[in-house]
Amino acid sequence: MAMVHDPRFVEDVPEGRAAIPAFIVCRNAHLLCASCLGDKRSAWPLSVHDTQCPTCHDEMLKSSQPSRAVVIKLDQYTFLCRYADAGCPWKGQVSQETEHAKKLCRFRFLRCGRCGEQYRAGFALEHNELCTELVITCPEGGADCLGAPRSGMYPRSQADEHAKKLCRNRPCRNFPFCRTRTSAANLVPHEPACTFQLEQQASARQEAATQRTLLAQSHAENATLRERAERVEKALKSASEELDKERTRRRELERECDDLADKLRDEIRRYARLAGRERDGGRGGGGGGERRSRDEQRFAPATRQSWSASRSSSVRDDRWAPVHDDASAYSSAGRSRY
Ligand SMILES: [Zn+2]
Ligand SMILES: [Zn+2]
Ligand SMILES: [Zn+2]
Ligand SMILES: [Zn+2]
Ligand SMILES: [Zn+2]
Ligand SMILES: [Zn+2]
Repeated sequence: MAMVHDPRFVEDVPEGRAAIPAFIVCRNAHLLCASCLGDKRSAWPLSVHDTQCPTCHDEMLKSSQPSRAVVIKLDQYTFLCRYADAGCPWKGQVSQETEHAKKLCRFRFLRCGRCGEQYRAGFALEHNELCTELVITCPEGGADCLGAPRSGMYPRSQADEHAKKLCRNRPCRNFPFCRTRTSAANLVPHEPACTFQLEQQASARQEAATQRTLLAQSHAENATLRERAERVEKALKSASEELDKERTRRRELERECDDLADKLRDEIRRYARLAGRERDGGRGGGGGGERRSRDEQRFAPATRQSWSASRSSSVRDDRWAPVHDDASAYSSAGRSRY
């Protein structure tokens, strides 16, 4: 018996049973698979040999019937859909597979009524994306693109012609800056002029942006300068506070100096008195009183006067001279005087 193994059986099937469907081809009920029978039928009647049953060499029957007995035996095995390779997950009995594959399978082929191309039943939407005869709507002007109802609806195969020759709603490529819509022919002169204008606008915008940047920079610089001025002002203020303190300290020192000068004068007077008394005691009376008053005149006013001169000169200078220089000058003057 000429049979072929069918790889769509999930389990191992005993040899000689795996031909689906199996056809009875002679009076002795010998079987042939569909493929072998098809080969013989297509050769028929060119070769006498091919009209004989390959098993018993009897004349083959004019019409062959599928063997129910073989199908019943094979139904105990699991069979895959003929479109399993394309992705169909169906598993079932051999006797059910044809029904599934021809009426239900998502992977069966259908023929498109518009373009005549084949597509798989579960992928109609995918086919519609490609179908050349599917009616689409003008993407620019919509269903009424040319004014009349449905004048913007045409088979996909005519889309190019509509866009190039008929459509009056083609947008300028500078959309959305330019909202001109016209025919493809009118866009040819329009777009270069439009682009030129657009470039001018763009360069004006660029210029404005540059100016804004410069302005922002100068604002920043002003802020920096203001900050620096504030710092200098603060430093100046603390320096002048320091100066005030120094002045106060100097006034205190001057007061102390005046006190010391007064004490010194008193000491000198007392000394002069003592010295006069000593002389008077040694030489007797007369002349001592005169000399004492002369001594007082010589020492006291001179001391007072020199202090005043020193103070006035240092007060005049300290506005400009650095504080420490002035102070050292003062103290050295004070030292030399004592
Ligand atoms: Zn065969
Ligand atoms: Zn036979
Ligand atoms: Zn299937
Ligand atoms: Zn189609
Ligand atoms: Zn259009
Ligand atoms: Zn434009």
